[in-house]
Amino acid sequence: MSGKSDTDIPKIFAALKFAAEKHKGQHRKGKDAAPYINHPIEVAEILARVGGISDTDILVAAILHDTLEDTHTTADELRTIFGDNVMSMVKECTDDKELPKTERKRLQIEHAKDKSAAARQIKIADKISNMASMGSAPPVGWPHERILQYIAWSEKVVQELSGVNQRLEDFYSRVLEQTQKQVSGKQGKS
Ligand code: ZN
Repeated sequence: MSGKSDTDIPKIFAALKFAAEKHKGQHRKGKDAAPYINHPIEVAEILARVGGISDTDILVAAILHDTLEDTHTTADELRTIFGDNVMSMVKECTDDKELPKTERKRLQIEHAKDKSAAARQIKIADKISNMASMGSAPPVGWPHERILQYIAWSEKVVQELSGVNQRLEDFYSRVLEQTQKQVSGKQGKS
């Protein structure tokens, strides 16, 4: 072991800085209204810690995965700054915003298997992060039924994405179980 990692640390920090600026002023839907950037940071952290991923471009794409969908970032901008590989992975994680929400959700299930292995892993980590938030800080104003529908949909998407990283898939199952307990506990109280 040389002790030298191939991970390009400056590129990862450049992505963090870029995403933090792009998501500036945005908040998560939970009652703690956490800064939006917490979510892409968590997705990259899950890929590295749980998924064992050290590939720079996958981690960078994870940090940037919501910039096309939720900010004014363009694909050209991503290509120029972070390269073709990162841009195409982010694109694979982006829904077509022209379509109605229910159609976009259906297509996430339908298109899951066509995605690259890298994009599938990012999407599983994304679903892990969102599932954990659903348990710990559910979106304000969501009725119990809507939370249950979200959980069922998320499970279907991850089922279709699976087969790329066993550790991520096992971690998703644990987070899912935890969230189901939290959600059923909360319903008893209300
Ligand atoms: Zn996301």
